[in-house]
Amino acid sequence: MLYTLPPLPYEQNALEPYISAETISYHYGKHHQAYVNNLNKLIENSPLKGKNLEEVIIESEGGLFNNSAQVWNHTFYWNCLTPNFTPPSPAFSKEIEKTFVSFEAFLDQFKNSAVTLFGSGWAWLVYDNGNLKIVQGSNADLPMRHNQVALLTIDVWEHAYYIDYRNDRAKYVEQVLKNLINWKFVEENYEKARSS
Ligand code: MN
Repeated sequence: MLYTLPPLPYEQNALEPYISAETISYHYGKHHQAYVNNLNKLIENSPLKGKNLEEVIIESEGGLFNNSAQVWNHTFYWNCLTPNFTPPSPAFSKEIEKTFVSFEAFLDQFKNSAVTLFGSGWAWLVYDNGNLKIVQGSNADLPMRHNQVALLTIDVWEHAYYIDYRNDRAKYVEQVLKNLINWKFVEENYEKARSS
């Protein structure tokens, strides 16, 4: 086993009532695990065998890219969520306001990006060459393939919300943004990106 499923940073029921233990048991226990298993199978016959996860993501195409990126995306997504929601710090809010005018406007734009992404994918807040940007990623696409640093993501594949919200992606995104974002993690990502 070359790549392993990282532990979930909280209990499977910790994000209730916004994300149920049943969703987490499928999303983490089945989907995320399947990407890890597929990656381990595919890497066996690849010249990239022995490279670390990020190197595989940058250098691969096709199934190997899809599965390696999805392993990374899900680990990052779990870390973006927390049962102990605290609002963003005043300092980070100020940084957001510089680009998006107000924190409310940022949330609106982020939500809009997540809701309008066609099909499966991810909504991202990224650090791109000194700028904060909201971008959409289809399927497994992720910021590091575009020389951007991921700061925050919400998974908008249907498996992320269908058990709890059925087809109401907007409500899922709204509830996650309002109640579950780990702003401390987002801010740490921002500070790291800015100082590197
Ligand atoms: Mn997912």
